[in-house]
Amino acid sequence: MATSYKELGLVNTKELFAKAVKGGYALPAYNFNNMEQLQAIIQACVETKSPVILQVSAGARKYANATLLRYMAQGAVAYAKELGYAIPIVLHLDHGDSLELVKSCVESGFSSVMIDGSHLPYEDNIKLTKAVVDYAHGQKDYVTVEGELGVLAGIEDDVVAEHSSYTKPAEVIDFVKRTGVDSLAISIGTSHGAVKFKREQCTVSPDGVLIPPTLRFDILEEIEKKLPGFPIVLHGSSSVPIEHVRTLEKFGGKLKDPVGIPEEQLRRAAKSAVCKINIDSDGRLAMTAAIRKVFAESPAEFDPRKYLGPARDSLKALYAHKNREVLGSANQA
Ligand SMILES: [Zn+2]
Repeated sequence: MATSYKELGLVNTKELFAKAVKGGYALPAYNFNNMEQLQAIIQACVETKSPVILQVSAGARKYANATLLRYMAQGAVAYAKELGYAIPIVLHLDHGDSLELVKSCVESGFSSVMIDGSHLPYEDNIKLTKAVVDYAHGQKDYVTVEGELGVLAGIEDDVVAEHSSYTKPAEVIDFVKRTGVDSLAISIGTSHGAVKFKREQCTVSPDGVLIPPTLRFDILEEIEKKLPGFPIVLHGSSSVPIEHVRTLEKFGGKLKDPVGIPEEQLRRAAKSAVCKINIDSDGRLAMTAAIRKVFAESPAEFDPRKYLGPARDSLKALYAHKNREVLGSANQA
């Protein structure tokens, strides 16, 4: 039996994006696949009074079980209330790749979906996206759809792209008009994962931090001019904070040339038509660094709560910081 997201207490992105574009901030889109991540997201967003998009990838559904995730999202709504502030919560499919997957998510209570046809030839991307839009908008309760134009490099669960190609501003009006999408993910130089660029593409700061090439704000501005007020989405927008990388390395972790998108550039993007920013790798880093620290400092510890607890706290602090200082979504719920 199909469940509508409204029965779960969730909302779609329509009004939230309209407010975010007007208000010059972006909504956080945080991925989750387990309880501690969900607790951290809800705690941080209630504390900062921020609306939130809970993101689930196909990989996360496989990992955690689709039924459990649906009840966890419903639980998140009740948990926020219990913490004292009923923030708007969206349950969103990240990188959907077929109409079948979208249907399965919508029937289990998702309020928003992404259909990623960006790797397909242009006309095939339109065809797939339009089929998803027709289905999602035709539901009793309108489900919002995010499409994608342009290809991001990097690795995200099952999504792998060797080479990026920037979104072509000339295509956006045609794409949005013909598909009817509610928002559009674009490629302006962000990238999935914690190793976003090759060392030779970056400059090096005095303390040894790799600084990537600046985002293509010129492309973003051109798109904004063509589609005034239309909600734009940035994927692959982790900043790979150096303090978490250093903790990870201090306690035995190893990352080859980690590099993220500087937070000031994301802040600048959030003030424009960008109204959803996806952050996943930073959370993975924060949790893993915290867990490595406990393992190294307290080798006799074997109660999972003793390492998952600190990992959760570190994640919560990271997300509260993002809402306040990077996205500008704090106090917008
Ligand atoms: Zn993505």
